[in-house]
Amino acid sequence: MSSHKRSARAKRVAEFKSQLTDSLGYDMWDEAEERERIMESRNSAKLSKKMCTSKNRYATEGEALEVARECAEHGSPALRVYECPLCGGWHLTSKKA
Ligand SMILES: [Zn+2]
Repeated sequence: MSSHKRSARAKRVAEFKSQLTDSLGYDMWDEAEERERIMESRNSAKLSKKMCTSKNRYATEGEALEVARECAEHGSPALRVYECPLCGGWHLTSKKA
């Protein structure tokens, strides 16, 4: 049922969109969508920098755990290791899950 609802809504949006396009002479929706897309990619770039590219990368969980253990020995707060969904490597974080 939800797929029917979705397509009905999509049809209404498409109709509204074509009216807007006709009356304004340009497609306002594409502009809004483009802006949204840019915002999203900016956010994900920021996120990937935070969780991936700005961090040291370890090839294996064992390697990451080893570094976390060494840091703990030097008095760092406990680090957690996590497998990165972006690069497939392992990173360390001081944040709790
Ligand atoms: Zn990563």
